[in-house]
Amino acid sequence: MQDFFLTAWPALQPVRAILLPAVLQCRMRNLRPCLLLLVAAVALAHAERPAADNLPNANLLQQPPRAETATSCPVVNAWSTPAEKSCYRTTPRYAETMAYVHRLAVAAPRQVRLETFGKTGEGRPLVAIVVSRNGIFTPVAVHAARRPVVFIQNAIHAGEMDGKDASLELLRDILITKKQARLIDKAVLVIVPIYNADGHEHFGPYNRINQNGPEQMGWRVNATQLNLNRDYLKADAPETRAFLRLWRRWLPDFFVDNHVTDGADYQYDTTFTVEIDGPAESWVRQSLEPELFRRVKATGHKIAPYLDFMGATPETGITAGAGTPRFSTGFAREQNRPGMLVEMHMLKDYRTRVTGNYEILRALLEVVNRDGAKLVAANQQADRETVARGKQHTAMQPLRWQATGETEPFQFEGYRWQVEHSDISGADWVQYTHEPITLTVPRQTKIHPVQEVRIPAAYIIPAEWTDVIARLELHGVAIKRLAREWTGEVESYRCQTPEWREYPFEGRHEAMWQRHSAESFGPERVQKKTQPPCEIEKAKRTFAAGSVVVSMQQRTARVAMQWLEPMAPDSALEWGFFDSIFEQKEYGEGYVLERLARRMLAADPKLKAEFEQKVATDAKFAANPRARLNWFLEHSPWWDQRIGLYPVGRLENLDGLPLQKPAPRKEADEDPDYEPDVPNRV
Ligand SMILES: [Zn+2]
Repeated sequence: MQDFFLTAWPALQPVRAILLPAVLQCRMRNLRPCLLLLVAAVALAHAERPAADNLPNANLLQQPPRAETATSCPVVNAWSTPAEKSCYRTTPRYAETMAYVHRLAVAAPRQVRLETFGKTGEGRPLVAIVVSRNGIFTPVAVHAARRPVVFIQNAIHAGEMDGKDASLELLRDILITKKQARLIDKAVLVIVPIYNADGHEHFGPYNRINQNGPEQMGWRVNATQLNLNRDYLKADAPETRAFLRLWRRWLPDFFVDNHVTDGADYQYDTTFTVEIDGPAESWVRQSLEPELFRRVKATGHKIAPYLDFMGATPETGITAGAGTPRFSTGFAREQNRPGMLVEMHMLKDYRTRVTGNYEILRALLEVVNRDGAKLVAANQQADRETVARGKQHTAMQPLRWQATGETEPFQFEGYRWQVEHSDISGADWVQYTHEPITLTVPRQTKIHPVQEVRIPAAYIIPAEWTDVIARLELHGVAIKRLAREWTGEVESYRCQTPEWREYPFEGRHEAMWQRHSAESFGPERVQKKTQPPCEIEKAKRTFAAGSVVVSMQQRTARVAMQWLEPMAPDSALEWGFFDSIFEQKEYGEGYVLERLARRMLAADPKLKAEFEQKVATDAKFAANPRARLNWFLEHSPWWDQRIGLYPVGRLENLDGLPLQKPAPRKEADEDPDYEPDVPNRV
């Protein structure tokens, strides 16, 4: 019936208009035709409008009619997912999704275990579905059997829930119909159906203006307006803390984060990229990626690498890059695990998107089941190499990467576009048609490190920086504490005062150095040889008992470096955890500083020349009486030497450190919100 309405809807409109008057004019002697007319009129009056018309942005998107795909709605049965039942007009709410998940768990108790790994800000349980062929559900047993663990995360941006509906179908086909049962022959799945659950329930038809359905969807950010996909390293949100607990517990071998694009229009419905830096890279590039292209293409979907263009239109070329660890896939890379970003194309209809997302997950799991041993071995090798580099004390660790600029020609399957001048914006307006075109565009293919630091033996964090230390523990970084006060030589960074972002970003005002903004840091520094904003100095410093020592001989050393190196792109300093070190806490009164300045100028001709030079060349300084007086305080013994001194020290060895015996590590399971073995329930 649905199909009939979708195709016939336009023709039915005039019929609807004449039916009711016809019924009214019916004579009682023509009872039977009158009754038929009445039934038809009631049916048509109550008929649901086809999906495309139900989207408030249908006219804005100007996509071709969706009847073509919707004419073949899936045959509905008891195990149809809510999206299938609606012929992909709708996506289920949190409660309906969890009800389906619980039904699966009850139907397949030997293969499914549900884990509640935390709660959202609004108190919704965060649920992970663990799927294992033979009832082995503990991470220790799974890792001991060298079975690859695949972590599939959905709805981090809860308006982009294609992965959730694809995952429900996949689970059904693995567990109930068994069409895809082989996908858990070796692999163990940890699937989070709705990660940003609070955002998901901020449900409505006006949440994604660029996106072609479903009729209503969730919202991008969590209940406190934090984008969870910028929060992986700083871990401000309760959802991120819960995620890190689940990550620590399972330490997956492969991580998938499902999204829907914004950006240009093109023919592809499925795009992806995999971030990895280490031994698994050759398997990802040479085996996995070609297989994903081949296997997804064979299902009729159009698949491409993730498409981010250099300019406003596709002919400018396709960029390459590496996410910093604020992003899910950048985080996975720093944890020595491949992280795959799936981006379904926003303008494709919902059915095409969900089924495309299904096919790329299926293809991934086929390859992971086939190559599981290789993947597990490569990950273990990555961990061993990280530990080994921590012993060398001479190795360099990249903190930031950029495209080298090298490109290869890429056959891009897009839609013809026109660029017109817009009277409204005053700039160019790109309008895509639906006329397919193929053109060759340059595609960046290589990235290289643009910021590296030498790996120390360990970092030492003064005990009082508790928030900074707590974040490391969330990431599973092992720490030891000083049993008593210790004084010794450490490498310390002294940092120029940064500028802070004027408007908040992710609830914080990031610290940035003018000449070293996130974009210009790497190659520009190399080319222009400007002073780095933080420079290492060696100094004897004293650390209180309880200060934290972070050895680099551990598998999470890269995460620790990204957090503790002050110039790393997502460091604690950059996110504002150390803002107070840049504050001047004691001031000189003007009448005192005037006398100090006069005495210093008379006593030191070199200092006098330096001051005069500063006044002559720095107009801002010259015009600021307070700054001019403060300059003398800065050059006097009264100046607080700790201003700009980064509190975290770098140690060249651990000799003589009075370390406490490590306390037994608190297991994730001990967390009150963590219920790893909740009984399956409906
Ligand atoms: Zn997204």
